[in-house]
Amino acid sequence: MVRHQQMYINGEWVDAQSKETREIINPYNKEVIATAAEGNEKDAQAAIEAARKAFDEGEWPNTPATERGAIVRKVAEFIERDREELAQLESLDTGKTVEESRGDMDDIAGVFRYYAELADKDGGEIISSPIPNSISKVVHEPVGVCGQITPWNYPLLQASWKLAPALATGNTLIIKSSEITPLTHVKVFELIEEAGVPAGVANLVLGAGNTVGAELSENTDVDLISFTGGIVTGKKIMQAASVNVKKLALELGGKNPNVVFADADFETAVDQAMNAVFFHAGQICSAGTRLIIEESIHDKFIDELVSRVKNIKLGSGFDESTQMGPLISQEHLDKVMNYVEAGKKEGVTVAVGGKRPEDPELQNGFFYEPTILTNCTTDMTVVQDEGFGPVITVEKFSTEEEAVQLANDSIYGLAGGVWTNDIAKAERCSAKMRMGTVWINEFNLYFPHAPWGGFKQSGIGRELGRLGIEEYTETKHIFQNLSPEPVGWFG
Ligand code: NAD
Repeated sequence: MVRHQQMYINGEWVDAQSKETREIINPYNKEVIATAAEGNEKDAQAAIEAARKAFDEGEWPNTPATERGAIVRKVAEFIERDREELAQLESLDTGKTVEESRGDMDDIAGVFRYYAELADKDGGEIISSPIPNSISKVVHEPVGVCGQITPWNYPLLQASWKLAPALATGNTLIIKSSEITPLTHVKVFELIEEAGVPAGVANLVLGAGNTVGAELSENTDVDLISFTGGIVTGKKIMQAASVNVKKLALELGGKNPNVVFADADFETAVDQAMNAVFFHAGQICSAGTRLIIEESIHDKFIDELVSRVKNIKLGSGFDESTQMGPLISQEHLDKVMNYVEAGKKEGVTVAVGGKRPEDPELQNGFFYEPTILTNCTTDMTVVQDEGFGPVITVEKFSTEEEAVQLANDSIYGLAGGVWTNDIAKAERCSAKMRMGTVWINEFNLYFPHAPWGGFKQSGIGRELGRLGIEEYTETKHIFQNLSPEPVGWFG
């Protein structure tokens, strides 16, 4: 049992004003691992008020960028120091393997370090003015009060993409974790406090989307809303944010094509096609859930994939031999089961999986077997909808044009991969694929230096990279006339 989880508002650890709490469930065995304060609109308003005051009257926006960078760097150091505790909390909360969570913590520390380094690198620029005797400069300033909303699949990783650039640039913020995965958000706020971020600058509110999340999206004292989550919620937030024309950053879902040509390295392409989907049980926005294979290797590829998938070891994230953990919740398990059942009705062939595992040890958790659905066509809902589970749909192509056309046939445009040893073909395909990230002979790789985000309905804006910090700044042009004199227009 983890201790009771509180919110962090205006530099104080507090319970919900209503005293409501929520039980946090271990997805491996449905045991209650903690209780958490269940905030609502009132708690969100208190946090917004604190962040507004800290921005309008506090020191943080005008603290030298080097000092802000040093504080953000300290957070990175503390994450490295407490890596094991954080990794265990993340696995307890999400069911993912501890080995994966350790990797997440390294990535998260890397994100804080990356933005700590960028904090003082933007000095603005003098631009060439067409007016004689004048100075024209462009500077970047913090946006103001930022509302940040994160999902349950990569709780702290997604939070780091928002917290680090917002703090480095002098904003104040209120973050809301997914109500079912608050543990590492709470722990990282202890580290933010220890690093010396002033009271009111960074606030954590726990609670549901339709209360806390809706308040952050609607409240006119919030200047920017940054959201990572599903497309349906993203559209609601976009509407709510229009009330005061908030700046908006949306990282939504994906239905990501993984295109394999016959001339690809067979062994690597099979191995990575599995990683692309079954890592974290497919609960990854960029999971390569649409396998699009050249017809001539289709049968051989699927036979090999099926034989390997049968050996994937499901279990507790704390067991070193486990390769895939459970899904996050009963609600999500039901969603994945219904998704596959819809595919069966549409006529797909279940090549492997397609059901809950029979192993008695797994009956208490939200497990679903790794699944491959063949004989899929683009018009099917299983090919178009984001299942967000360990399920691959397989389509065939016979020409390069067809491969690209299939890859692009989606409302989403988050990421995709192309496997071939023909470099020119890889370049042609990547140029035509309409998505924010295209991997050539790779899948699911990302790092803090490269921007991340979606084309089409996968989102608006970019996180990570330089663009990820620019989201948190306003651009101002300052013009100074060095020899002002009357214009005389009105006599
Ligand atoms: P979700 O949309 O259900 O919830 C995400 C967050 O939004 C949660 O904190 C939730 O409480 C909050 N929320 C719910 N209703 C709200 C409302 N009306 N107003 C404001 N906030 C509200 O998504 P989820 O199920 O937690 O996460 C899975 C989704 O996230 C998938 O679609 C996945 O693709 C997406 N995702 C995208 C990326 C990316 O980088 N593009 C990364 C991770 C996850």
